[in-house]
Amino acid sequence: MHYTKEIFKLSKIILLGLLLITTIILIKYKPVYSVYIDGNEIGYIDNKNDVEDYINHICNSNEANVAFASVNKMPEYEFKLVNNNMQTDESQVKQLIDDNTTKTYTSYAITLNGENKMYLASMEDAEEVVRNLKEENKDLQLGILQVYSENLEEIKATDVKEASISLAKNVKEQEEKERKIKQRTINGIYLAVKPISGVITSRYGSRWGSTHTGLDIATSLGTPIKAVAAGTVTYAGVKGSYGNLVIINHGNNVQTYYAHCSKIYVSKGDKIEAGDVISAVGSTGNSTGPHLHLEIRINGKTVNPQNYLYK
Ligand SMILES: [Zn+2]
Repeated sequence: MHYTKEIFKLSKIILLGLLLITTIILIKYKPVYSVYIDGNEIGYIDNKNDVEDYINHICNSNEANVAFASVNKMPEYEFKLVNNNMQTDESQVKQLIDDNTTKTYTSYAITLNGENKMYLASMEDAEEVVRNLKEENKDLQLGILQVYSENLEEIKATDVKEASISLAKNVKEQEEKERKIKQRTINGIYLAVKPISGVITSRYGSRWGSTHTGLDIATSLGTPIKAVAAGTVTYAGVKGSYGNLVIINHGNNVQTYYAHCSKIYVSKGDKIEAGDVISAVGSTGNSTGPHLHLEIRINGKTVNPQNYLYK
């Protein structure tokens, strides 16, 4: 009897002790979860479910333009007791989970001649833009393509009005460019570059009872002369009234002549690109002042350079 009473008393003391310890712990400490990604602790949170909900929200996002999203490394949690006055960092943890998320965006590209030009948010928007453009020109080679990218900026959608205006402008510029290229193309050779800029002092054609076989463009002595198109140098040296002359063969029976040069920087057989500097403006040969005499020939016959350049 006496023995049982002692045990009861002892249990009471132990129980009170435990209660006291628990109370102290609860006053001084609080339970949290430490969050780890890839073994690195990224912060403390009060509630594990909050973070799990957040991850579910990311992965099932209805965010505009997001085709799919996935968290690269799922976080791991560790239960801890920490000092009660310690702040948890939910927003930082969420931010780090965001940073650890790969999002794939989608939009609808309008293609012009097979090239992606503009991006729209939906198929309906893209179709509207195509309709708008076809009203102006039904022959345009337009298409719609759903595209995906991890970089939103790459495929960022514009609105229907902006896309229609911008594309119409693009089409005009493209047509203008094609028209220019066509104008400057002779026998399939595109004359991309004007050799020099200067003042036209004598045109192609009849002059004082004879024929001027080229176009004279005057500018200061030593001005670099550029090749109008890619080709092979077939002559580089002095030639009678031409003075210092460079002849370039561009293929397709098209040749260009650059005469009266003060200096020549290329040699026979050199392969050159459009815009390469081949010589310098001078007044050698039959010339009264520094100028370039430019000739364009097809099958050896001169044509008016101003049909193609310096119009
Ligand atoms: Zn001339």
